[in-house]
Amino acid sequence: MKFEEYYDIVVVGAGHAGCEAALACARLGLETIIFTVSVNSIALMPCNPNIGGTSKGHLVREVDALGGEMGKNIDKTFIQSRMLNQSKGPAVHSLRAQADKAEYSKAMRQTLENEEHLTVKQAEVCRLIIENGKAAGVEIFTGGIYHAKAVILCTGTYLRARCLCGEAITYTGPNGLMAANHLSDSLREAGIELTRFKTGTPARIDKRTIDFSKMEVQHGDIPVVPFSFSTDPESVQKEQIDCYLTYTNEKTHDIIRANIDRSPMYSGVIEGTGPRYCPSIEDKVVRFSDKDRHQLFVEPEGLSTNEMYISGASSSLPEDVQLAFYRTIPGLENCKIVRNAYAIEYDCINPKQLNPTLEFKAINMLFAAGQFNGSSGYEEAAAQGIIAGINAAMKVLGREMIVIDRSEGYIGVLIDDLVTKDNFEPYRMMTSRAEYRLLLRQDNADLRLSHFGHEAGLVSDEAYQRVLDKKENIENELYRLKNTFVGNREEVNELLLSLGSKPLHSGASLAELLARPELSYEALSPIDPNRPVLKKDVMEQVEIHIRYQGYIDRQQKQVDAFKKLEKKKIPASIDYDDVKSLRLEARQKLKQFRPVSIGQASRISGVSPADISVLLVYLK
Ligand SMILES: Cc1cc2nc3c(=O)[nH]c(=O)nc-3n(C[C@H](O)[C@H](O)[C@H](O)COP(=O)(O)OP(=O)(O)OC[C@H]3O[C@@H](n4cnc5c(N)ncnc54)[C@H](O)[C@@H]3O)c2cc1C
Repeated sequence: MKFEEYYDIVVVGAGHAGCEAALACARLGLETIIFTVSVNSIALMPCNPNIGGTSKGHLVREVDALGGEMGKNIDKTFIQSRMLNQSKGPAVHSLRAQADKAEYSKAMRQTLENEEHLTVKQAEVCRLIIENGKAAGVEIFTGGIYHAKAVILCTGTYLRARCLCGEAITYTGPNGLMAANHLSDSLREAGIELTRFKTGTPARIDKRTIDFSKMEVQHGDIPVVPFSFSTDPESVQKEQIDCYLTYTNEKTHDIIRANIDRSPMYSGVIEGTGPRYCPSIEDKVVRFSDKDRHQLFVEPEGLSTNEMYISGASSSLPEDVQLAFYRTIPGLENCKIVRNAYAIEYDCINPKQLNPTLEFKAINMLFAAGQFNGSSGYEEAAAQGIIAGINAAMKVLGREMIVIDRSEGYIGVLIDDLVTKDNFEPYRMMTSRAEYRLLLRQDNADLRLSHFGHEAGLVSDEAYQRVLDKKENIENELYRLKNTFVGNREEVNELLLSLGSKPLHSGASLAELLARPELSYEALSPIDPNRPVLKKDVMEQVEIHIRYQGYIDRQQKQVDAFKKLEKKKIPASIDYDDVKSLRLEARQKLKQFRPVSIGQASRISGVSPADISVLLVYLK
């Protein structure tokens, strides 16, 4: 007798995407089951032991603003925290926290296991069930059938995975975990196009064999800034552990060059395409041969292990070569490798098969998120996971799905790039990808996106009211500063001179003074006795708004123009063969991507502004 169970939602994968997707669905009251090949690997960090960093910190804050879990989870389990790029403008300020990997996974597992409406199951999903063009559930290796109204695929780096360390190849997932070798065939039978990507990780070194005196130490920030807007900043002020900085050198490069033919990447054994923006050490030595050294960060994997992660030195060279080149690096001369560096290949999809809602164009009620969509990174995965989770739930509940556009969030940039552009390698988020990045800062993610989470039902009324109050306090204070004037009185000019700022020759508003880069909101308090008591985050927003007013206004104008094109929807039924004056290449691309708006059409490579004009006339 077949074993059968019924759920609203099935999530395949309990990595960074699957966890966010499943929690979103369960928290919206839907009976949800999440599968993983091993419950001990829930929210596993198989690569770098940190969350956040440039542009990735933005994604974590946006996931948090939508009601996601990653920000809260890292605030509970971080061991070092730093705000990066503080010497630059606020658009690129990014939080980055070292995680205790084991504690991170444990904490996320506890959250999943205690979430109402959520069932966690260790089992390999082998078949996708499609009924009448709709996803209707999955079959697992035991033959058990799990029926569902929607399915979310978040299989990461596990589908038909194989790991390569020199000539040694193992058919496993990361960290020696079981690969998922059956689902790919079932997805192909369902008409889903799969491709093969690869990524790599560095060796883990025993810290007892490292001479840290030969490295530069990197301390955590004091005070620590939390990731989650709901985390009490006081609760994250704790002792932190250090990271270290060291460099490769010509000896390192010589060993790598001398053995490059033994690297599966260069011997052609590796079929999958790797991320250009996360190159292996082999790639760096070959592609940047003019550089005499490459920067490496030596980072702790956790408090209860001696493993140290050598960031920047991922490799798939053989073990003997790895040991030889690691031992040329200052501080690692006597190192012992606990885990060899390796590369991993896996099946994933070309995301052009997805709508901006992350639902498959060709299969209703089937959604996808994370590395399976051709992205790379925990944060990119979590961002897609929460969107796929919310949208699968919205569709099951018969409610409108959400699409965050490029002017509203890095999540919008990420998903739009995935579903609209040709991605021939794992997609990694970068601030340079976000054309409206001055508006999409990590410090205002709650102001930009909480309403989406609240409308969906993931952000509580109380939490949302806090955001509305914050917005109102910011607006009131901006108005007050612009309409509060100080004269060129003696105590005013004495203060300005003491702060290294030019004295006033006539009156000025407090806003005009605050626009001076050398002056801060706090510093002006002696000449602003009637100021209200404001929270730090409100002061921060007020300062940024006044200091970057001109840039922000200009960017807002660009966004207004962008939104106009985004609003021009293209009917799903359009027949591009009927649009006579379209160029052949544009016709092919439009038929391939089937964009939902003129804005999206204008971003498809091969579709020119002239083609867009033709389309606009046709649609009229
Ligand atoms: C070796 C290695 C190196 C990496 N290097 C980098 C890097 O340098 N930079 C970077 O940004 N990212 C890197 N990553 C990627 C990073 O780990 C992923 O981006 C991130 O983990 C993706 O999250 P995810 O949720 O999409 O998938 P994963 O975290 O891979 O989780 C997938 C989940 O799906 C489950 N699963 C899969 N198939 C099935 C099935 N059929 N049945 C049941 N369960 C299933 C697994 O058990 C797991 O729980 C690396 C990953 C690996 C493995």
